[in-house]
Amino acid sequence: MKKLLFLSVLLVFAGAAAQDTYLQCGKIVDVESGKTMSEKTIVISGNMITEIKNGYVSGGAEDQVVDLKSKTVLPGFIDMHVHIESESSPSRYLEAFTMNEADIAFESTVYAKRTLMAGFTTVRDLGGSGVNIALKKAINKGTVVGPRIFTAGKALATTGGHADPTNGSSNELMGDPGPKDGVVNSPEDGRKAVRQRYKEGADVIKITATGGVLSVAKNGQNPQFTIEEIKAITDTAKDYGMLTAAHAHGDEGMQRAILGGIKTIEHGTLMSEETMELMIKHNTFMVPTISAGQEAARLAKIPNYLPPVVAKKALEIGPKLNATFAKAYKKGVSIAFGTDSGVSPHGDNAKEFIYMHKAGMPVIEALRSATITNAILLGENELGQIKEGYIADIVAVNENPLDNVETLTDVVFVMKEGVVYKQ
Ligand SMILES: [Zn+2]
Repeated sequence: MKKLLFLSVLLVFAGAAAQDTYLQCGKIVDVESGKTMSEKTIVISGNMITEIKNGYVSGGAEDQVVDLKSKTVLPGFIDMHVHIESESSPSRYLEAFTMNEADIAFESTVYAKRTLMAGFTTVRDLGGSGVNIALKKAINKGTVVGPRIFTAGKALATTGGHADPTNGSSNELMGDPGPKDGVVNSPEDGRKAVRQRYKEGADVIKITATGGVLSVAKNGQNPQFTIEEIKAITDTAKDYGMLTAAHAHGDEGMQRAILGGIKTIEHGTLMSEETMELMIKHNTFMVPTISAGQEAARLAKIPNYLPPVVAKKALEIGPKLNATFAKAYKKGVSIAFGTDSGVSPHGDNAKEFIYMHKAGMPVIEALRSATITNAILLGENELGQIKEGYIADIVAVNENPLDNVETLTDVVFVMKEGVVYKQ
């Protein structure tokens, strides 16, 4: 009692109300055990989960109570592959020439908010113009509403490679971009580009190890880095504590990325069985992005939406992702949830759960990949679970997703860092 009195006196002096939040949850899915717990109250103090109590409990008069008795509660989702700055549109290729950084910035705030409201409290952004770094800072500061962002800044490519920013330009505009712009052509360039990203404030390094679908270039799957270049990049990234990711559709480029020390293979579309075994051996993770394959193939069928050279690749490569994911998962390749949102609309991220489930992954495992697995990959020990001592990133849906996966696309409650954003 004396202690309590002392505490309240202290708080009066600090001028702050001791407000805790009590989430009264009908059901909580424990993503670790796969069990559903009933009638629990999660107590949140500041940005942390401090206790999980049995039954429905309220605190004192000063505390906030949220009634989620008819809902199923889950940890906030983590998407390992988004492009938060942009979204597919028929004018996308023109926009490279018409949009200023400020235009991109304003649009990105809309996508960031939509992503958070869909229950994705953390995302890994795998490449944009560099506005993504400013967006991350603005969200951390509380100026903009959005998910916690780990970003690659500008992705790294080789000349003419998938993320060369001047692909498809006239010769005059094409120029000769270098490491600062994310274009590298030697191990030395690779080291410099990583250090440049670090200096700019990026958290992760993304390379485009093979051709890609949406760039204005003929080949969507050829290897585009030498293994020496990849090794120089991953070694340098390690020095700076940066996680590495490689976009890859073709098998040869994928193998070079794995052997070169890359941690996550994005898409992995044409992955052979041999490469799947290599993934398992090197503990490399696959980020399936089935959503992107579906969306690219859909857009390719809309007349004049994509340039012809892109549409052809989208129809060839896009639909193959589902089957490759199914095979890789069955074989035991580790899976990290990721969508490539930006290709598909921001806010539709949870559709990936449905695609993964349809391809043979139990819902609980898909949920685990979007929470525990991704938190570990990002090196965040206090994210991805609803447990004492974890950061209060919490979402709720209408039904138990273990019975109906589609409910994940309709998130009705979102809390990030103990703050309620949607209710
Ligand atoms: Zn991508």
